[in-house]
Amino acid sequence: MNVLGIEGTAWNLSVAVVNEEEVVLLVNDPYQPKEGGIHPREASQHHAEKMPSLLKSVFERFPKEKIDGIAFSQGPGLGPCLRVVGTAARFLALKLKKPLVGVNHCLAHVEVGRWKTKAKNPVVLYVSGGNSQIIARRGNRYRVFGETLDIGIGNAIDKLARSFGLQHPGGPKIEQLAEKGSKYYQLPYVVKGMDFSFSGMVTAAQKLKEKAKLEDIAFSFQETAFAMLTEVTERALAYLGYDEVLLVGGVGVNKRLQKMLSVMCEDRGARFYTPPVELMGDNGAMIAYTGLLMLKHGYSTPLEKSFIKPNFRIEEVEIRW
Ligand code: AMP
Ligand code: MG
Repeated sequence: MNVLGIEGTAWNLSVAVVNEEEVVLLVNDPYQPKEGGIHPREASQHHAEKMPSLLKSVFERFPKEKIDGIAFSQGPGLGPCLRVVGTAARFLALKLKKPLVGVNHCLAHVEVGRWKTKAKNPVVLYVSGGNSQIIARRGNRYRVFGETLDIGIGNAIDKLARSFGLQHPGGPKIEQLAEKGSKYYQLPYVVKGMDFSFSGMVTAAQKLKEKAKLEDIAFSFQETAFAMLTEVTERALAYLGYDEVLLVGGVGVNKRLQKMLSVMCEDRGARFYTPPVELMGDNGAMIAYTGLLMLKHGYSTPLEKSFIKPNFRIEEVEIRW
């Protein structure tokens, strides 16, 4: 079975074709804001403008006739962006006369991670621009055991980077700065039960600019935020009695976060998994693969139910595999 998947919930417009074994092809055309962060209308205009050429490049390399289904990111995400993706997917499904399947974006991060690592039933730390959640499967659903109460960790890092005058996305630049920092400044460590919050930390870190070097601020920010995420992941692991941790989402490429989690896992005798870098952040392959799983298990999305779901939660999806 070959499934084409379209991702475009935020910054990355990405289309892929996958089968049961592998990612056959993956093409990206990311939106890069000229200044500031992701502007929903500008991002959606970018997606609408680039969609035809991206799809054309896919069909030049993979015959349309061999596509068995069309998967798309139905949510969560930015409304204007989701609408462009949904429209393109509906058009393709009608044109090619193939089933359409709406995919939960968070579920797709989890499933592509499980597919490309050996993780079977992990506690998942999902850290991206807009989302930060600790997810694990219980029965026939994934449950969120902890999550951010305000902004996602990626969003927090991007905001800090912007206040340093660095261009979006800030994650890789903050990581580089942090590697050169060594002096730790205390920042608000906000963990409430299993949930956490980052916006107070961003404000406090921005205030440090008066007295501290940017390298040390970046270092202190990463140490504090990643310790919070590691603490809650460890608590979920202990509570559930699972012995695997899977890290997914764009922030997951960060080496310091990976290190903290792997040390925690080693201490607890748990295995730690990270998918290949190109499948960590938002990408079309994760949508295509999850769509393939869903189609194989009897799911499809009729046109009248293919409306976008900007607040789509992972718990809403019943898992039949
Ligand atoms: P996603 O939404 O899953 O594609 O993730 C995008 C987010 O990942 C953005 O907020 C980026 O700044 C962040 N990111 C990318 N690379 C890194 C990195 N090396 N360290 C921390 N965050 C990163
Ligand atoms: Mg994402």
